[in-house]
Amino acid sequence: TATANAATTVERPTFSFELYPPRTVAAEETLLASLEHLVAAGPEFISVTYGANGSSRSSSLSVLLRLLAETDIKAMAHLTCVGSSYADATRLIREFLDAGVTSFLALRGDPPAGAAEGDRFLGDLGSAGELVQLIHRVQAEREQFSLNDVPGFPGAKRLSSGHKVTIAVAAFPNGHPRSRSVEQDLDTLLAKEAAGANLAITQLFFHADDYLRFVDQARAAGVTMCILPGIMPVLSPQRLRRIVELTDEKLPTDLLRALEAQESPEGQRAVGIAHAIELGRAVIGTDDVGFGRPGLHLYTFNQHEAVLEVLRGTELLSVTTNHN
Ligand code: FAD
Repeated sequence: TATANAATTVERPTFSFELYPPRTVAAEETLLASLEHLVAAGPEFISVTYGANGSSRSSSLSVLLRLLAETDIKAMAHLTCVGSSYADATRLIREFLDAGVTSFLALRGDPPAGAAEGDRFLGDLGSAGELVQLIHRVQAEREQFSLNDVPGFPGAKRLSSGHKVTIAVAAFPNGHPRSRSVEQDLDTLLAKEAAGANLAITQLFFHADDYLRFVDQARAAGVTMCILPGIMPVLSPQRLRRIVELTDEKLPTDLLRALEAQESPEGQRAVGIAHAIELGRAVIGTDDVGFGRPGLHLYTFNQHEAVLEVLRGTELLSVTTNHN
């Protein structure tokens, strides 16, 4: 009978994925194939990078639009301060809101190609906190405008439309590379929350203690928003070196040695996945005192196999049971 095959979903901490906009037709095909599997896993949201690695506003928006049109998964748009005038940034936020995006990850942004840290590459907005404020302002103005348009609400004050905007920001368990101290990182995070951020997503990290210590410090400093741990399964020593170069994180020599000790790509892959599962198990649900139960935010590299293995290994994927 139908009930005999009913699926039982065990409530668990949530998980989410990060994608980047593909830059070639072949990369787009790979992404589409993976997207189907990622969506089927039922993530809380899928975020799409912007600006990093030269991706453009239109390529980021087209992935977001696809998610909105073809799935019921929440699409989170990364936005940055790089190169935009105040007017450009305002227009861009309106464009995303008009497209139906109600979740943002507000970032200062990586230096664009040809620029380096320390160069002047930002526009009118100087930090992620200012972008958070601008998103709130644009959203509030838009909401008021639409209410004024409704017959029977002439000049109505802004009322809550029930569409809460999620504004996430970046957090750095091992410190932002430009930061002078842990206190500066914590002050920056607090400033972003004060500006209106309601979720923090961490830079990738390789040891559970990095995250656990950071969350303790953030709570002691007064940060109350959920701090979602960001994890990337790293499947080869080359990939690990490249990621460390891109993020300026410290090279985890223990993981590097374990990957290098393997002779085959399959062996390296197994080590990378086992490492991510162990890391995930140690951090999932640890930041749950009154802040919801954050699971994992997984950096996918636009591929589904490894991250789904990590979700199964950490038991974050819903278990479907047949009752017979
Ligand atoms: P901010 O919070 O503005 O901070 C940047 C620096 O300024 C820090 O050193 C901080 O300490 C200092 N600072 C800022 N405000 C204050 C303050 N009020 N008081 C004291 N110090 C302050 N980059 C992209 O280009 N595109 C992406 O899609 C992208 N996605 C990312 C996703 C995640 C989850 C993460 C963790 C990073 C991502 N990045 C992306 C990288 C990010 O843009 C860079 O790490 C950037 O250098 C910092 O961004 P931020 O938003 O943390 O900046």
